[in-house]
Amino acid sequence: MAQAAFFWNERCFWHSGGNYASVAPVGGLIEPLKAGGLPENPETKRRLKSLMDVTGLIGDVTCPSAAPATEEDLRRIHPAAYLESFRRICAAGGGELTQGTPFGPDGFDIAALSAGLVKQALLSVLNGSAENAYALSRPPGHHCLPDQSMGFCLLANIAVAIEAAIAGGLTERIAVVDWDVHHGNGTEGIFLDRGDVLTISLHQENNFPRDSGGIATRGSGNGEGYNINIPLLPGGGHDSYLYAFERIVEPALTDFRPDVIIVACGYDASGLDPLSRMLASSETYREMTERTMALANEFCDGRLVLAHEGGYSEVYVPFCGHAVIQALSGSDVVAPDPFADRLRKQQANERFRTLQRELIDEQAAFFGFS
Ligand code: ZN
Repeated sequence: MAQAAFFWNERCFWHSGGNYASVAPVGGLIEPLKAGGLPENPETKRRLKSLMDVTGLIGDVTCPSAAPATEEDLRRIHPAAYLESFRRICAAGGGELTQGTPFGPDGFDIAALSAGLVKQALLSVLNGSAENAYALSRPPGHHCLPDQSMGFCLLANIAVAIEAAIAGGLTERIAVVDWDVHHGNGTEGIFLDRGDVLTISLHQENNFPRDSGGIATRGSGNGEGYNINIPLLPGGGHDSYLYAFERIVEPALTDFRPDVIIVACGYDASGLDPLSRMLASSETYREMTERTMALANEFCDGRLVLAHEGGYSEVYVPFCGHAVIQALSGSDVVAPDPFADRLRKQQANERFRTLQRELIDEQAAFFGFS
């Protein structure tokens, strides 16, 4: 029987950023950090793989790698001029296409590899060689537009994978659930006028990108009604995410009946993340994974792919990811979460939860879910 597949490649950990302290360029009054660099650094991802090695969870999944996305794959999403600029900057030693998305001389090759991991994860699930799949992709992709890098994202990994699968005749109806704490603006923009790709993003309201991710953006043309944004209040945690799942994500997926579900799996809604103000925990991620698996079992013969996106707590991302991959694989190898108790106690009080639930109910009514 096919197993869960965990796609990864050491080289993705070698993607290097520029001279930043958090998201601020070093210089002026911004002193370089001793540990250096952007929040998007290899450690969160490497430590997830390391934790799986240490607990033994890695033995309960297959561990394939993949070839980089090809020029043909990338051109389905990105204009030739964008790819040429990207390569040219790499050849000159690295730099930035857009401020805040730096890369080194191997940036293009590693970004293409990251997209290739997501593509192969999707193809493996669709051709039945994997029961479901997780891609430890780096750099991430969900903010990237066809001609603009953004928010650490250099190529639109999930969109590249979707178009490759459609071109191969493997799927016709795809749903993307983006639970990264930031708005999945790239995926939204790429599929905004498409009725065959449902895009759903849960995110902290007004975090990143600014002026993006409002509920009124529902799609256009053939895509009208096929984009759903669920902005959540800062301070929301487990209950916010699970209630939004129950009231909006689950009914939306039930109505749409996709062939396959892809999750843009960021862990930056966690209570330890430096780039958000939410309080999700490993339990939140485990439960969202289990619920998504139940929907995939109901409508998609279990076909489910998770693509790693953001998540910037080096200490906590590994525990959240471990919970997700354990659920995905059905393994009984647990990594006890040392932060679970603390985060349980830090959740918002009853009055906040009631307000957030009312706002989610209003959003659900707006989307036509009673
Ligand atoms: Zn993010």
